[in-house]
Amino acid sequence: MKPIIGITPSITAGTDSRPGRRFTLPANYVEAVAAAGGLPLILAPQDGPVDPVLDLLDGLILSGGPDIRPSRYGDQEVHPSVYGVDDLRDAFELALTAGAIRRGLPLLGICRGCQVLNVALGGTLIQDIPDQYDTDIGHRQSDQQIPDAEPSHDVAVEPGSLLETVYGATRLQTNSFHHQAIRDIAPGLRLAGRAPDGIIEAVWQPEAPWVLGVQWHPEMMFLAHPEHLRPFQALIAAASGARQASAAAD
Ligand code: MN
Repeated sequence: MKPIIGITPSITAGTDSRPGRRFTLPANYVEAVAAAGGLPLILAPQDGPVDPVLDLLDGLILSGGPDIRPSRYGDQEVHPSVYGVDDLRDAFELALTAGAIRRGLPLLGICRGCQVLNVALGGTLIQDIPDQYDTDIGHRQSDQQIPDAEPSHDVAVEPGSLLETVYGATRLQTNSFHHQAIRDIAPGLRLAGRAPDGIIEAVWQPEAPWVLGVQWHPEMMFLAHPEHLRPFQALIAAASGARQASAAAD
């Protein structure tokens, strides 16, 4: 049986003619999970306990999207560039993350998902890189007309980190679509990779069976650059191992 990988969607506004809000997810997340041998399941954001949702899953992906409410990481002042805050999504994803970590469920955080992972464990974020961080790298490559599937900056991989195990490399070329990033790494998480300007691009949890956050979007890159399927393959291998262990215990 394929491991079931839950993926959180975005919550987006409706249109003038159809005002109801929507739960949306770019199909490439689903395609990457399927290509890596998992069974993707999109998770409807909802109030209430998340244990019944986590009970369905062998692994979890926190997807990309707009910003987390800054008060979630202790910032009372909100930078004017902060956009798209949705309290239902924040609450759902933060609860899923805490629950997944409590259970030892394999977890991959992508872009916003990397930030959710950090905030869920008590870390903080830079609210706006262009305004609050000295860099000459454009971390929003769409501003430079670089295609989504192509890299725009390097990532130096921390030796001995889960990121090095996953990619089998000490330097990666990644895409970049973020105006925020991790400021202080949460207790329990460890640095896994940095951009050449020092921006934190990946974290992992050494004590966990398999927890990785990446600031780039491997799901946009894996067709053109197959090494970016590896985070999904490694997540699914970990999810499959966890499933077999729990079946053996039953
Ligand atoms: Mn970047």
